[in-house]
Amino acid sequence: MWTNHAIATRRRSGHAPKPWVADILALVAGIGLGTVIALVVIGESRGTLASPGGWLIAVGRLAGFTGTYLMLVMIVLISRIPWLERTVGQDRLVRWHRRIGPWPIVLIGLHVVTITLGYAQMTRVGPLHQLWVFLVNYPDMLAAMVGFALLVLAGLSSIRIARRKMKYETWWIIHLYIYLALALAFAHQIVTGVVFLGHPLTRAYWIAIWSLTAGLVLVSRFIWPLMKNFRYQLRVADVSEEAPGVYSLTISGKHLSRLAVSGGQFFQWRFVAKDLLWHSHPYSLSALPRPPFLRVTVKGLGEQSKAVARLKPGTRVFIEGPYGTFTRHARTQSRVALIGAGVGITPIRALLEDLPKNIEVSVVIRASSAADIVHRDEVEALVQIRGGEFHELVGSRKDVTIDADSMRRLIPSIAESDVYVCGPNGFTDRVVAAALRLGVDPKRIHHEAFSF
Ligand SMILES: Cc1cc2nc3c(=O)[nH]c(=O)nc-3n(C[C@H](O)[C@H](O)[C@H](O)COP(=O)(O)OP(=O)(O)OC[C@H]3O[C@@H](n4cnc5c(N)ncnc54)[C@H](O)[C@@H]3O)c2cc1C
Repeated sequence: MWTNHAIATRRRSGHAPKPWVADILALVAGIGLGTVIALVVIGESRGTLASPGGWLIAVGRLAGFTGTYLMLVMIVLISRIPWLERTVGQDRLVRWHRRIGPWPIVLIGLHVVTITLGYAQMTRVGPLHQLWVFLVNYPDMLAAMVGFALLVLAGLSSIRIARRKMKYETWWIIHLYIYLALALAFAHQIVTGVVFLGHPLTRAYWIAIWSLTAGLVLVSRFIWPLMKNFRYQLRVADVSEEAPGVYSLTISGKHLSRLAVSGGQFFQWRFVAKDLLWHSHPYSLSALPRPPFLRVTVKGLGEQSKAVARLKPGTRVFIEGPYGTFTRHARTQSRVALIGAGVGITPIRALLEDLPKNIEVSVVIRASSAADIVHRDEVEALVQIRGGEFHELVGSRKDVTIDADSMRRLIPSIAESDVYVCGPNGFTDRVVAAALRLGVDPKRIHHEAFSF
């Protein structure tokens, strides 16, 4: 079925990204931040600033509100809003999320320290005594402290060294605590927030920001995916070995002609089977949908991806997506170079199928042995139909060099092409470096990382 490219199927094309979406969102986030700062500053009076500890308390309030606002922005960035994912791409959103990451922790930490010192000066007691008074006498302060501790824990777990040593699932569960931390912080702000006293508009604005964030998460992560899955009713139809340790899953479903997806995009997959239900993993489609079927090709690396090989036909499947910008919509030229290695060949295969017919393609696929090349015949057949160039690079890293010279030899028109690359990080880095050396405009180099 997946090899017969002559079969025409009725299906919806993936939506094109809307670049203005990201600009508008950045503008709204900036205005939101400015409004938060303005409302907190307006809420301070000269009298309170002049009293003992007044400045420390004011700085603390500003730090607390700004830090929490940035936390909400981080949540929106990873809430998998489809139109945002399509425009910016999940890897870039995750990068932005990580870049903002340290700021809320630093600002909320500053809030805890300055508010404690400020109140200690105001009431003329020691800082530790003041901290104790907060915890014992102020409603929700203990909960807020627990929330802060959870935030610090999530932050520490994201530091590169800790992240590398930790299982993905452990890191993910620690990150879920952030939602608890935010709920605890929200209660503390609404109950004890002096900024809100006599300022109902500030309170309404703050509640609106939180409700909007919670609504976005609820709709994009739960309601929307549940509705889609209810419509598609996906189940495993077949599992077949593609190469040693690499399996293709054919998934059947209903109404799949209405699923709008582009070649090169991925979904988050959740399989309703023992030990697999509780986490979803990203896998790219390895072919365009052939309603009533979808296909993914998975390399067994860890527990989940290896268990995929043992899935039984009939197993229920839930998806979230499609996500990703590694699609034909990113193309700017009439020539395209598609370069894939290992299981990174799978989105290249789907993308190749999705490119408009008039596009000239050069495809390079790479694996350490001929047996390891996934979908080789399908890729070659698709290239032949278009009259493009097809190259295989087979051998160890020592024998097969990826550099500017080898790339120019294989794809003489590379400088005038859009370059799409997907594969292990080291491979992708080498291809990108070679393309840059050969004069490819960085905006025309598109790559998909298989890890976040
Ligand atoms: C956008 C994207 C598309 C991908 N497409 C494919 C594909 O088509 N075929 C394929 O075989 N692999 C693909 N991967 C890689 C695949 O998701 C991981 O190999 C798989 O999740 C490993 O899970 P594990 O529990 O078996 O392994 P683990 O041992 O838990 O992890 C192995 C590696 O995968 C990463 N990883 C684990 N779980 C996740 C997760 N939920 N989200 C992101 N990274 C994770 C870990 O950080 C680690 O680097 C893709 C990854 C991404 C980010």
